[in-house]
Amino acid sequence: MMREHLASGCPECRQILAFYDKLARVCLTMAPNRAPEAAARAARAIFPIRRPDRRQWGIRIPIELIYDSFLVPAPAGMRSSWQVGWQGLYRAGDCSLDLRIEPELQSSRAAVIGQISNHTLPEIEMANIPVRLRLGSLVVAETVSNRFGEFQMEYEQQGRLQLCVYLDGGVRRIQVPLKKLTADSHVGRDRLNIGVASGKKRPGVGK
Ligand SMILES: [Zn+2]
Repeated sequence: MMREHLASGCPECRQILAFYDKLARVCLTMAPNRAPEAAARAARAIFPIRRPDRRQWGIRIPIELIYDSFLVPAPAGMRSSWQVGWQGLYRAGDCSLDLRIEPELQSSRAAVIGQISNHTLPEIEMANIPVRLRLGSLVVAETVSNRFGEFQMEYEQQGRLQLCVYLDGGVRRIQVPLKKLTADSHVGRDRLNIGVASGKKRPGVGK
């Protein structure tokens, strides 16, 4: 098709072809000559090689917080039925991560309930996806998703916990910071003290 197109005499493509013919000829004549080490060093300095550490972590997919129940007021009537907790929805590439955190009353423990789904290919099964709660390199809790992509973990709220979902056998991961919640038994369901871990930074921004 390209040859036919060129034969039709398109001036733009002929010019591009002429350029690449010339480039190929130059490269062929240069190929036998080794670049001087100094030149190679200078070239490597211009383009530093960055190797992402994917042995354990996988490549982190950029995330976007689509819904945050602390930021968006619940519609009238919803609040009364809604217990203590937080609900959020993240987008990460072609996946959506639905999360709910429910703190235990008068305790620092909480449960995280989530669902991972692929919003571009909803028919893809999201079973047996490893999900871990990490505190730095320490794994605090771990589980795998069921065939609906759902998972649930109970944990001790502490520090800056990160929830990691490992996709494609660990090649890619979704990582979101877990909010630290306190269920205030005196004030009731509508009052939540947001802990330090929730942070002011937008999730997904930064390293
Ligand atoms: Zn053309």
